[in-house]
Amino acid sequence: MTAHIIDGRAMGAEIKVELRNDIQRYMQTHGRLPGIVIVHVGTDTASGVYSKTILRIAEEVGMHASLEQLPTLTSPDELQTILQQFNSDETVQGIIVQMPLPTHLSQKMVGDTLLSSKDIDGISPYSAGNLFLGLPSLLPSTAAAVVEILERTHTPLAGKRVVILGRSNVVGTPLAMMLLQKNATVTICHSRTVDLATFTRQADVLIAAVGRVKLVTGEMVRSGAVVIDVGINYLLNGSIVGDVDFASVSQVASALTPTPGGVGPLTNIVLLKQCMQAAGWEAEAGKHATILH
Ligand code: NAD
Repeated sequence: MTAHIIDGRAMGAEIKVELRNDIQRYMQTHGRLPGIVIVHVGTDTASGVYSKTILRIAEEVGMHASLEQLPTLTSPDELQTILQQFNSDETVQGIIVQMPLPTHLSQKMVGDTLLSSKDIDGISPYSAGNLFLGLPSLLPSTAAAVVEILERTHTPLAGKRVVILGRSNVVGTPLAMMLLQKNATVTICHSRTVDLATFTRQADVLIAAVGRVKLVTGEMVRSGAVVIDVGINYLLNGSIVGDVDFASVSQVASALTPTPGGVGPLTNIVLLKQCMQAAGWEAEAGKHATILH
């Protein structure tokens, strides 16, 4: 079997067209664009690249976006005050704080401070709690991007065995909750899992989100499985690879995401889609508030 290679860039282009239409409809109804603010504290290079990518995509889809670049030595109080200002800013529907933060700032404080209705990367305990309870929620964008791929490729999930490698709060664990709600039978494997291959060989859908080169090889994959490679690993020669050994797995799987060009291009587009979702929910809540008054 030779796997169908899932084209994340083409899928991203498709979502951008839908998003642009949604934003135009929002503009016609509300007379303003939905707005996203990116908060980047410090000088982390990858965060700088992600911020620029979000700004570029926002411009492409017609969303209002701005970057709040803060110095590394921003104090916890200063960051909290800035986030609170964005919480109450009516022109802002979504806030993303780039991680990692400088070590003197805590992600927990950010999650606790962000207004949950603007927490478009689903990092607050409230968002995580809603996801856990199966209630509508803003979602961690990488996990949501994986679900987007599975849905757009019409991958059956109900009753299927899904194995996720990695249990982080941004990818593996929220993804498990999302797929459980789609009636998949979900197994999470992690750094302490013994005999990984026993689990991976059972998977109808195998998702690798670890950050280890060639963690998943062809003999670990069941024939015909759908394999989603979330991992990003930088090689010494400057190239980027995922967690999946593309050469061997593409001979066994029925479908496979490449790295680069698979999950990566979708993550930031899905983040903006969530901002649009947040804007829609805010407008709905406002409508109900008007009725109540
Ligand atoms: P993380 O370091 O927080 O978590 C890694 C997880 O892998 C942990 O839960 C750990 O238990 C598990 N793990 C470690 N060794 C393992 C092993 N041998 N077998 C099974 N599980 C093992 O990382 P993260 O933030 O969840 O990201 C995971 C990967 O996804 C990284 O490579 C990251 O760069 C990539 N990533 C990609 C995107 C994207 O847009 N494509 C976005 C976020 C993260």
